[in-house]
Parts: sequence; C-alpha cells; structure tokens
Amino acid sequence: MRNVYFDICSIPLYVLILWTCYFRRITKDHASRVFIRMNVVSLVCAVLDIAMEFVVNPLPLSGGRVALGTAISFSYLLLRNATLVLYLIYVYAATRTEYRIRSPRARFMIWAPNAVVVALLLINFVRPLVFSVTAEEGYARGPLMPLVYAIAALYGIVGGWYCLRSKKYLPAGKWIALISVYVLTFIAVFVQLFAPVLLVEMFSTALGLLMIMLLVMRPEESIDASVGIASWKSYQTDLQNILRTGQPVQIAVVQVLNADEIRSYIGEDDYAAFIRSAADGFEEVLGGEKIDVTMYYERPGAFYLILEDMGVDVPALVPRMVKAAREKMGAYAGKGIRFDPRFCVIRCPEDLKEYQDIVNLGHRLSKLGVQGQEVFLASELIGSKDYAVTNHMDEILHRAITEGTLVMYYQPIYNMREEKFRSAEALARIDDPKYGLISPGLFIPAAESAGLILPMGDIILELVFRFISEHDLARLGLSFIEINLSVAQCLQADLVATVKALQDKYGVSPSQVNFEVTETIFDNLSTTMDKNLRELASLGYSFSLDDYGVGYSNIQRLRTLPLDIIKIDKSMVDDMFTEDGEVIIKNTVRMMKGIHKELIVEGVETKEAIEAVNALSCDFIQGFYYSKPLPEAQFLRFIEQNNGIAARQ
Ligand code: C2E
Ligand code: MG
Ligand code: MG
Repeated sequence: MRNVYFDICSIPLYVLILWTCYFRRITKDHASRVFIRMNVVSLVCAVLDIAMEFVVNPLPLSGGRVALGTAISFSYLLLRNATLVLYLIYVYAATRTEYRIRSPRARFMIWAPNAVVVALLLINFVRPLVFSVTAEEGYARGPLMPLVYAIAALYGIVGGWYCLRSKKYLPAGKWIALISVYVLTFIAVFVQLFAPVLLVEMFSTALGLLMIMLLVMRPEESIDASVGIASWKSYQTDLQNILRTGQPVQIAVVQVLNADEIRSYIGEDDYAAFIRSAADGFEEVLGGEKIDVTMYYERPGAFYLILEDMGVDVPALVPRMVKAAREKMGAYAGKGIRFDPRFCVIRCPEDLKEYQDIVNLGHRLSKLGVQGQEVFLASELIGSKDYAVTNHMDEILHRAITEGTLVMYYQPIYNMREEKFRSAEALARIDDPKYGLISPGLFIPAAESAGLILPMGDIILELVFRFISEHDLARLGLSFIEINLSVAQCLQADLVATVKALQDKYGVSPSQVNFEVTETIFDNLSTTMDKNLRELASLGYSFSLDDYGVGYSNIQRLRTLPLDIIKIDKSMVDDMFTEDGEVIIKNTVRMMKGIHKELIVEGVETKEAIEAVNALSCDFIQGFYYSKPLPEAQFLRFIEQNNGIAARQ
C-alpha cells in the first residue's frame, strides 16, 4: 500500500484555504473564483487519491472493487488535469491579462491538450492504455500514461513560462508565490517518479495554493474590511496593470454625491451596511445579466466597476442598478436617507489611457456634468470646459492668489415687504486668462482641499470691504453685503484681527457686513470658532446660516450660535410643490419666525415660486427670478434702476 499520509494532511489545508476565502470574503473577483474552483477540484482529487488506496488493497480485488477503482482512477486523472488548466487560467487572471485567452482560438489552445487527456481516458474504458485496474494486479499504469504526464508537463511549461514573462505585472512576493506552485508540483512529480509509494503531489499543490492565499490574496490590502469589497488600493494596482497591458476595459465610476452627509447622519456602522446594500444591488443586476465585473470601493462613497467586456451597454443598465440598490437599502429610506449616485463610463484606452487622468476623472466626477443627470460618458465630459478647468486647477488657483484673477459678483436680495433690494450676496468667481470665468462650485472645494482657502478667503474679504468702502450702500438703499465664510476661515485664529484690520483700513461699519456660515460649522465647533463668531458678533457683525435644509442641523444646535438670518436652500424651494415639501417649508418658516430669525429664501427662479414664497410671509428672496449674480458695475446699475435711485454722474 502506498503512503497516503501526505494526501490526508493536504485535506485540512484545502479546507482551510477555502474556509479562509469565504470567511475573508475573497470571493468576488474573477481570479478568486478561479482560485476557489481550483481548490475545490484539488480537494476532491486528494479524497479520490486516498479512497483509491483503500479500494485497490488488498489483492485480489472483487468485481465491485475493480469497477470502483476504475471509476476513481478515471475521475482522479480527469480532475487532476483540469486543475492544471484552471491554474493556467488563474495565472492569467491574477496578472490581469486574462483577456489574452478570451478569444475562441485562445480558449481552444488552452483546453485542447486537456481534451486529448479526456479522449484517452474515455478510450481507456475500451482499451486500458492509460491505466488498468484488475483483480490480480490492482492498479497499474498503461503504456500511454507518459503521454498524460507529458501533457501535464506541457501545461506546467506554458504556465511557468507565462509567469516568467508576466514578472513585471506583479510585485516580487506575489510572483514568487505564483511560480512556486509550478516548482512544488515539479518537485512532487519528481519524488513520485522515484519513490512511487509517496503520494506527495496533492500535498505540495496544497502548499503552493496556501502560499498564493497568503501572498497573492492578501485581503488586508485588497479588501476594504468594513464593507467587504475590493479596496481602492487594489483598484489602483489593477488599473495600472490593465493600462500596462493595453487590455481594453470599461470602467464605471459611481460617486455617491451625498456620501459624507449620509455617513454623518447614520454613523459609521450603518453606513458600511448602507454601502454594502448599494454594492449588492449593483451585483444583482450585473450578475443577472451574466456580466463579468470586478467592483472596488473607495471611501467615503465611490465605486469602480471594471468590465472586460466592451460590448456591455453600461448606461442602459444604470437605472436598474440604481433601482436594485435602492430596494436593498429600503430600511434607510425609512430614515429619510436618499441615495444619490452619479455614474460615468470610461472606455479605456479609447477615452483615456493615462492612469492619473482616469483616477482624476473619477475623483472629480461630482464636480463635472450637469446636476440631475445620473449617467455620463467620459467622452462627453472630457470635451467640457469644466474638465479642462478641474485638470488645471492648481495653476488656476495659483493665478487667483498671485495674479488677482479673483473677482466678486453680487446677487441682489429682495425685501418682500418693502418691495426693494435691501442687501446682496458677494459670490466669488475666477476670471482666468486661459479658461475664462470659473464658478466657485469648482474652485472653492479645490482651494479647500489644496489648503489655499485661507489666502483666498483673505482676498475675498479685502475685495468686498473695498467694494463697500467705494460705494455708498445707504445711497443705494442697501443695508449690508453678505460674505461667505468657509469653515477653515472660521477656525482661523486671526480671523477677528483680519476683519478688524480691514474694517479700519476701509472705514467700513460692521453693520454693513453679514457673514454667511454653513451647517458644517456645527461639526467643527471649537473654542476658536466659537470665540471668533462671538467676538465678531460683539463688534456688530451679523451672521446668516446658509443652505438651511441641505444637511441635518437641528434647531437646538442652531440656537447655540449668534445667527440672525437663516437662508433656506434652493432644494427646499424646489420641493415646495410636493405635498411633503410644502409642509416642511411652511413649518420651517413658522419655526424660524418663532425663534425670531429673519429668513431669506434662496434659489427662487419662477413667478409661481415667488407667489408661493410670498404666501409663507418670508422676509427676503434671492434668486434668478430677480437677478443672477452680477459683476460690480452691472450690479450697481441694477440696484440703481430697481431701487429707483438716480444714477451717479
Ligand atoms: P451659496 O453661498 O449658497 O450661494 C448661492 C448660490 O446659489 C450661488 O451660486 C448663486 O448663484 C446660486 N443661486 C442663487 N439664486 C439661484 C437660483 O434662482 N437658481 C439657481 N440655480 N441658483 C441660484 P454660486 O455663485 O455658483 O456659488 C456656489 C457656492 O460657492 C456658494 O453657495 C458658496 O457656498 C460658494 N461660494 C461662492 N462664493 C464664495 C466665497 O466668496 N467664499 C466662500 N467660502 N464660498 C463661496
Ligand atoms: Mg451663501
Ligand atoms: Mg446658499
């Protein structure tokens, strides 16, 4: 009897590998699925190998045992050869070059030698050329067994050669693990050739696969543990590999536009479950269509789906994917959470072929394209001005700070009772010599993340204070100008000193300035910020809370700061004509009035909306209905005309 102890030891190893794969959720991408299949087949082979020893011993064999032994040997050889094919496919998948074996011709080449083995094994039932199981001799190798080994060796040589060739696609550790399976199998076959009683083949394969499990499939690198989806880091590596090989792929980028908001509302744990349900929804639709896709997740709210099939019409699937995701996250909808994704499909290398360009487009997606549209093709975004602007933001910001390209526009704010324009909001723009007029929606967040918002904020303050000093607000009928302050400015230790210096320099009265802050300051409340706001308030500056209704601020927090005016966001106005929306805005107005706040309704565009807002007895309206933000001279003319003031000579 041969020594089956190695085979027996291999079984727990295979079970361990499989269990780890499932436990660590390394089951999602194509390479992992091939790897798992290979482990399952190898496990079955090991079991068959052990069973065989008990079936064909002791001699002579009964008729039943001969039949069983024949069946087991047949299955073993069949499956054992299949593992070699699977491993070859795995090598292609792990190096992300599987597209090379997608064509029918390549598939034929891959499977043809294996088909010869299958044919030989079938013929073996009639003429025992590969092996025989007889009552007297038990198991014996036939004259064509060397051919089966030769075919196995062929797979080994091709796979080993491909590993050597693909060295550049993988880090050294991973590459060594991949090739080690071949080396270990080679050693095992060698051992078995000279010591046929030692059945070490399945054990050495298990060792090789274990090495892959440990070195190639490191989930801490490749999986985002909180959600169990391939990580941003593995997206980066895979994308780089794909681009290096030139394989055509489609990348669907999904940005959850309101990710930060949702996360701060439902908390980290629920948020992870929320993201999982979105991913499940996407997978359900793509899986249902039998589309081979690898999904990656980047915090806080981006998905990247890489599809190797260029024929899939991703935009056509998006509505169903979003619907399925929303269904999966049904529980959150009850909490008032709305899932607001934006998709972009990038065809590589057709649309973009540089790694950094692809990454940048994904990151800037929320800033590109028109609001309200769910799916974009990269090709339509790339031609847009916004794309050129976001790609050259560094130089644009640099010019804004050093060359004076920052300009202020002013949007009139209408007083409903007096039927006059009584204030205005200062809104920054960059008038770039290369890219023209750039909207703050693009450059303010960029300046914030580039750490340039403070110098930019200082320039804005200076420009507005100067504007106030140069024009007699009282003559124009204006009480004050509103200036947006970003969180970073509110946190700045010398904010009060800066404002005071400007006040003295330009002889501006604090009552002529109102600072707008957003609800995000509630998340950053610190002693510095608190002190800044209170000191400015005590100097006589007033404050507005901007964009009310976008976030989740509660009335209690709102009362902790010296806020005089609440600006109701456009989104609330847009919802006003729905049943719920009407109730919300009505009650918001009543509540704010109750705690003696003045109200500005922002983003009113139509006559219909004006009338509806009027019925709410709001104090002020700011919106395109009256005027868009205007450049200085135009603004002054507008106010003179509409407030009935004689133009200055
Ligand atoms: P915001 O402070 O809420 O400013 C109001 C925005 O709504 C402005 O966009 C204005 O043009 C727009 N708007 C006003 N009425 C309507 C309307 O009827 N319909 C529509 N569709 N839009 C309307 P803008 O100028 O593009 O500014 C966007 C945001 O950029 C501002 O939102 C503010 O958060 C930020 N921002 C602008 N200027 C500055 C600044 O000087 N400093 C800072 N920190 N942020 C600024
Ligand atoms: Mg504002
Ligand atoms: Mg606003």
